[in-house]
Amino acid sequence: MAAIPAQQIPGVYHRRIGDVVVSAVSDGVLQGSLEILQKISVDEAGRILTDAFRPLPRFTSINTFVIRAGGRTALVDTGSGTALGPTVGKLPAHLAAAGIDRADIDTVILTHVHPDHSNGLVDDNGRLWFPNAELVLHEAETTHWHDDAEMGRANQPSRERNFMAARRQLAPYRGRARLIQGGEVFPGVTAMPLPGHTPGHTGYLITSGAETLLIWGDIVHVPEIQVPRPEVTVAFDVDPAQAEATRRRMFDMVATDRLLIAGMHVHFPGMARIARRGDGYALVPEPWVQAF
Ligand SMILES: [Zn+2]
Repeated sequence: MAAIPAQQIPGVYHRRIGDVVVSAVSDGVLQGSLEILQKISVDEAGRILTDAFRPLPRFTSINTFVIRAGGRTALVDTGSGTALGPTVGKLPAHLAAAGIDRADIDTVILTHVHPDHSNGLVDDNGRLWFPNAELVLHEAETTHWHDDAEMGRANQPSRERNFMAARRQLAPYRGRARLIQGGEVFPGVTAMPLPGHTPGHTGYLITSGAETLLIWGDIVHVPEIQVPRPEVTVAFDVDPAQAEATRRRMFDMVATDRLLIAGMHVHFPGMARIARRGDGYALVPEPWVQAF
């Protein structure tokens, strides 16, 4: 009898945007409860997921994206490292499967600092994992996570998991970090501040020729729920009202412009469009396409 497969073929997906190649590289799938959702009951959230034929509890993709443009190799977000359990932390294996050596990554770009995005900056001993990379992130991120008064207001788990972890992860990159407020990161990639989920949460617009892709970070965490119900926020939004406003603004923009988006928590490979449906929106995943 043929062997039964025990794991998936590695999670890598390439998409050409003009002359740029964007590769979705999966960090895995996190399983979690629906209690993180605000402004919706657990029962109702569960019903929406069941209606969408999604498993319970919540299965959340964690995606990162490699951008190869103009001789550069940049990685947007770094995955979960080893701290969030065995179903995630797959970035190193998947980068290897994609033929990408971490030493070849010249730029690490963060959408924001949170465990599922920035843990992978360092190894278990706190040493930087990308030996040749400049680190690019919004300056409001470093300010927020280094603010002792903000940390004092946070609960104990958040103090450790977010504030202390952020400080440990960013420290080895001191001297090689470029703090931005928006604008061009390098030719073809432009930072678009999308504050709310965190103060420096930032999307990255990739443009080449006539094609555009917006890596929108954490505009949604549970797409089946937050696309039709943009008012639903998550417990770890730093400013829930601003996160909701930013989400609504993004849905309006990408639906109007028919823009291709890539989401860190849109199911792998995370590329989709947002269509207007009646008074609301629907997420339309992009069908699989050949890379070249
Ligand atoms: Zn996230």
